Amino acid sequence: MPHHAAGPLALAVDIGGTKMAAGLVDADGTVLAADRIPTPRPLPGPDAGEQVWAGLSAMLDGLLKEAGNRPVVGVGTSTAGPFDLAGATVSPVNITAWRGFPLVDRLAAQVPGVPVRLAGDGVCAAIGEHWRGAGRGHDDLLVLVVSTGVGGGLVHGGRPFTGESGNAGHVGHMVVDLDGDDCPCGGRGCVEAIASGPSMVRYALREGWRSAGDGTARDLADAARSGDPVALRAFARAADALAAGIVSAAAMCDLDQVVIGGGVANAADLLFPPLKEGLARFGRLGFLQHITVSPAQLAGDAGLIGAAALIHSPDPYWPATPPTPPTPSMR
Ligand SMILES: [Zn+2]
Repeated sequence: MPHHAAGPLALAVDIGGTKMAAGLVDADGTVLAADRIPTPRPLPGPDAGEQVWAGLSAMLDGLLKEAGNRPVVGVGTSTAGPFDLAGATVSPVNITAWRGFPLVDRLAAQVPGVPVRLAGDGVCAAIGEHWRGAGRGHDDLLVLVVSTGVGGGLVHGGRPFTGESGNAGHVGHMVVDLDGDDCPCGGRGCVEAIASGPSMVRYALREGWRSAGDGTARDLADAARSGDPVALRAFARAADALAAGIVSAAAMCDLDQVVIGGGVANAADLLFPPLKEGLARFGRLGFLQHITVSPAQLAGDAGLIGAAALIHSPDPYWPATPPTPPTPSMR
């Protein structure tokens, strides 16, 4: 794209418990360069948080060098939660070295003079698919990311709907089984406790499945494809849980467009047929009978592309007034 060769770039950052990714993304949403590292796992200690930052910062340095003369006009960040209301510090559940870590300040110091914007990973995935992926052109959209957990984000009226604390769209923790298994969140019967990769594997092992490989969800998918009845049942349960969550969300929000991404995209052949059956079974009211579920288009890049949209397309993706922390007197 020679005519864009000097266009502005967003430095996009994607913070996860397993990996950290970063990329240079242009105004078309094209990832021009990207890098990723396993999330550093320092020994606990006073500088553990700094060690995690050092790993991320070195990766960002490399990308900034690659940008060369092209202007980097902002830093968009997608992060695993939770993060604080003002978006200035992060405490991702699976990065124990970061508790109240001042990520926004650090990024601002590394890339001075440009805005640094941060949103939750589910929201960024939803923004990415809405801006440049499978959800383009739909004012109301639910995006689910099904992998080691079940995350999600909601676009409502063409804008990300983040809710009071920024956490709206956590479809993985909608309760779909009143007597269900414990969920990593501390609750029980959540969509995630049934439909995440590890939850499917746990169920299958409990029911007598013996993995021929390393016992991952990918393994379970292979078993299902060769007709293993327990593996097939694990996928059917997961599909039902997702369908129940989707129908519940649709009943609440009156939306009919859903995009599903995450590692499960590799098992769409196993998941989508029972999911569509589940939607038909649970969604009986007229306005729930036309829910369209599509596979994500941006694969692993949805978070980076959504984070870049916070910079390249602030209207509609970045609110004019960032949320402010509640004062004690308001609570
Ligand atoms: Zn839960």
